[in-house]
Amino acid sequence: MTDTVRVTIQRSDPASRSRFEVERFAPMAVLDLLLAIQREQDSTIGFRYSCRVGMCGTCTLRLDGRPVLACQTFLPPERDAVRLDPLGGLPVVRDLIVDTAPFFAEWARVTPYLIPHDGLDAPAQIRPDAPERQVIDPALDCITCGACYAGCGVADYRRDFIGPAALNRAMVLIADSRDARRGERLRAVTGDDGAWRCRYIHACTAVCPKGLDPAGAIRHLRRWRVEDLDAD
Ligand code: SF4
Repeated sequence: MTDTVRVTIQRSDPASRSRFEVERFAPMAVLDLLLAIQREQDSTIGFRYSCRVGMCGTCTLRLDGRPVLACQTFLPPERDAVRLDPLGGLPVVRDLIVDTAPFFAEWARVTPYLIPHDGLDAPAQIRPDAPERQVIDPALDCITCGACYAGCGVADYRRDFIGPAALNRAMVLIADSRDARRGERLRAVTGDDGAWRCRYIHACTAVCPKGLDPAGAIRHLRRWRVEDLDAD
């Protein structure tokens, strides 16, 4: 491991990059690196963070081209130079800060909260041994960091694609027997702008910092839709 690391950072102007050399310590997260630059070399550098424990999803950026959480990603010891860019496919606000509005607009499209059946004001919990938990539990921990959306080549190409995070959320709600709108939800997310648009590049699953499998969620949606149609 070298004593310093060279960092190239994309600035707001796409033609402009800043270069820094930073004293490193181990383990050094990407966020530590940015804070050191801001503190000691360039106070104007723009980046976002909040919780610092991988729960809020606000510090997502690209490290050497790959979407990562800056607070949870450590500099590889063998690397003496890294590059940081804002997330792809979203408008840049400043330097490494992007406008996540397009991502959250898709999230809102799937009505991302439980709508209980009439009379079920406080929905009962799903039993730990209920079969639906096998589908729901591995897909629950989305922190809406946007890494999968920004890494999805299809979402980047066609902005009307609902995208992997929102489809994953829809899948969780459709699998949940307490939800009153499962059929309606399934039809809404399996149109041309939904699950069938996916090309299974699996970038979403590869980059998800919480280990979720949005591509697998999309596979569930497609299968359920086909089974639904067969039942008609
Ligand atoms: Fe982030 Fe994973 Fe949720 Fe996508 S599915 S927004 S990568 S936590």
